[in-house]
Amino acid sequence: MEKIRNYINGELVEPETGQYLDNIEPATGSVYSKVADSDGRDVERAVAAAREAFPAWSRTPAEERSRLLLKLADGIESNLFRLARAESIDTGKPLLLAKTLDIPRAARNIRFFATAILHHRSEVHPTDYQGLNYTLRRPRGVAGLITPWNLPLYLLTWKVAPAIATGNTAVAKPSELTPMTAFLLAKICREVPLPPGVLNIVHGIGEKAGAAIVKHPAVETISFTGGTKTGGEIIRQAGPAFKKVALELGGKNPNIIFADADLDEAIDTSLKSSYMNQGQVCTSGSRIFVEKKVYPSFVERFVDATRKLRIGDPLEPETDQGAVVSREHLDKILSYIQVARQEGGKILSGGAPPEKLNPRCKNGFFVEPTVITDLPLDSRVNREEIFGPVVTVTPFRDEEEVIAAANQTSYGLTASVWTQNLPRAHRLAERIDSGTVWINCWMLRDLRVPFGGMKNSGVGREGGEESLRFFTEPKNVCLRFPIDSPKKK
Ligand code: NDP
Repeated sequence: MEKIRNYINGELVEPETGQYLDNIEPATGSVYSKVADSDGRDVERAVAAAREAFPAWSRTPAEERSRLLLKLADGIESNLFRLARAESIDTGKPLLLAKTLDIPRAARNIRFFATAILHHRSEVHPTDYQGLNYTLRRPRGVAGLITPWNLPLYLLTWKVAPAIATGNTAVAKPSELTPMTAFLLAKICREVPLPPGVLNIVHGIGEKAGAAIVKHPAVETISFTGGTKTGGEIIRQAGPAFKKVALELGGKNPNIIFADADLDEAIDTSLKSSYMNQGQVCTSGSRIFVEKKVYPSFVERFVDATRKLRIGDPLEPETDQGAVVSREHLDKILSYIQVARQEGGKILSGGAPPEKLNPRCKNGFFVEPTVITDLPLDSRVNREEIFGPVVTVTPFRDEEEVIAAANQTSYGLTASVWTQNLPRAHRLAERIDSGTVWINCWMLRDLRVPFGGMKNSGVGREGGEESLRFFTEPKNVCLRFPIDSPKKK
């Protein structure tokens, strides 16, 4: 059985404890590999390696850093199938999704920041003929990068790329539930080869390995993506030490459909925004609001389309819906469906594990895509993040009502608005509390834009210039012009 080891100082090494955790394939419920159960000592070694690598790496010319990162992106692309299969087995997501979204995006993330640093400029402020102020942006040192299980390589590279491209060194901790592609990434780093210590990957449990990274005094920059509760814990640890922290957290995103929208397109995209990756995407549109006039026809067509989704073995090419990540997560999703029933919701589709699955998957963690209606806005199911293939559909009368409904959660990550009336779309975009508003689309991503959340969905933004700024320290340098003194003449 494969043992997923840590990547420290350019080597694949055993954890100090010598202990490994089970790594389970969600589609079968079986242990298929082992993952290092690291603790503070492994983090200590990783941070030491990162600190040692920092002086040389931070002074390596941008062009050379870029060249190495581009080689890393090439390495990901040339291992596309291997990485996609590993991601599918590790997470339960359809292989097709891993092959077309997760892995290509991981390569794009790296290529994007590898080239961005070649175009990076900093500011100059000429000060009334007396001098010049210019801004130096220097890497900050060792960055701690902590990522979740839903988009493992995609989100890991989204942080690793800007962190090391800008000259920092890094200690990353992937989710212990989905460590495989990070391990394969480490192997590709060794082939590049990336200088030892520039990137270190420590596997293990969040409360142990993750917390040790957050607490380490030499890790002054922390970029975290994960749940809101964990984000709060990280802030509590990092705040008193004045660390620079970016948090990308949960969401309970509204998907708003007006009667004048192109309903075919809205339904088609809503299926994706509801169920892609089994609904385990932070940007999932888990609360669908539909204008009353078209509510009955939307519900009928959406439920019909939901029922047609093929749920099953993620490795089968025709599968639309794979497994959710763990037994614990499946239980959480099912318990929310139970809460919905208690809160008076009507389950129009799904609501339980599927009855028919191929024998390989009979012990896997599957739940049917689920549509719930008739739930009050203040119900738990309409307020709390479920992070599974479960959506609620609620009718609305007008613009004012739906804006209030959309904003009635403690989250504020993304929103979608479907209408042909563009002035109205812009009014909503301005008034909905969320870091991103998509008009007549969902997940149309541009890596240059600021991405992140308002309210309990996070602190700070990632993407493009925002990431480059986050991972660098701006230092103002003031240069006074020599004074043309009359005495000297
Ligand atoms: P968690 O918050 O449970 O875990 C995220 C990462 O943090 C994991 O690597 C975890 O390790 C680690 N961790 C856990 N506890 C600590 C701790 N005390 N100190 C340091 N690290 C810790 O989230 P999930 O993995 O369950 O991911 C799902 C969540 O992520 C959802 O809420 C989702 O909305 C959010 N998310 C947000 C995105 C965004 O861009 N806003 C994008 C994708 C997901 P371990 O796995 O070992 O517990």
